[in-house]
Amino acid sequence: METTALRATIAANLAHVRQAIVDAAVASGRRADEVRLIAVSKTHPAEAIAAAIAAGQRVFGENTAQEALPKIARFPDEPLEWHFIGHLQSNKAKLVPGNFGWLHSLDNLKLAERLARFARERGAILNILIEVNITRDPARHGVAPEAVAPLLDDLLRADLAGLHLRGLMAIGPYPAGAAEQQAAFAAVRELHDACRTRFALAEFTELSMGMSGDYRAAISEGATLVRVGSAIFGERDYGRSRG
Ligand SMILES: *Cc1c(COP(=O)(O)O)cnc(C)c1O
Repeated sequence: METTALRATIAANLAHVRQAIVDAAVASGRRADEVRLIAVSKTHPAEAIAAAIAAGQRVFGENTAQEALPKIARFPDEPLEWHFIGHLQSNKAKLVPGNFGWLHSLDNLKLAERLARFARERGAILNILIEVNITRDPARHGVAPEAVAPLLDDLLRADLAGLHLRGLMAIGPYPAGAAEQQAAFAAVRELHDACRTRFALAEFTELSMGMSGDYRAAISEGATLVRVGSAIFGERDYGRSRG
């Protein structure tokens, strides 16, 4: 797409999503500023990110380090916040602290220990969300709901200076109707509340849930971070990213 057209399209999409976030927050008695929008730019080129920046977006999400690092390097002068939202293999852990401010997919203690070590080496802070496999889908990543508290217990006993434990992340059921989405997100919120109470964690305030197809339902169940890709950037261009 030509640059001017790309900018106009992405600006219009962003305006639409931002308004839908405000509407969903207000409809559920929440303040709109309790919800932050992560623009998921995976598979889209740096020009699309530049267009979103021009429309005021500062928070971006990517799901692989190899795709994200050149994009991050393209915008050294912008005060951007990068979120790593994909599954992270432990041999890629060193690429995350310092490059990303947030990781949404923590699922084991060993990975946390590696991330903490690299964060300290780089003098960086990494905000951490534990990924919950709320649908118990064996094809998905994340820890089972009942394994979240035991993992948190282990994390809190370990030396994880450099990491800040900030909350939970989940991917909603798909395909699913509105009631099923709602029920899944409510279950994540209840688990989050239970963890905050049990471990008295002041900083454990974040709930990352909701994508293009279900962010409204997620907001009505308490999402503080929504991860929206195709509703902002259009359908994913896998040909480009893989070729
Ligand atoms: C790709 C992705 C998103 C964004 O998905 P859309 O449906 O394009 O909004 C959100 N979260 C995760 C973990 C993703 O991998």
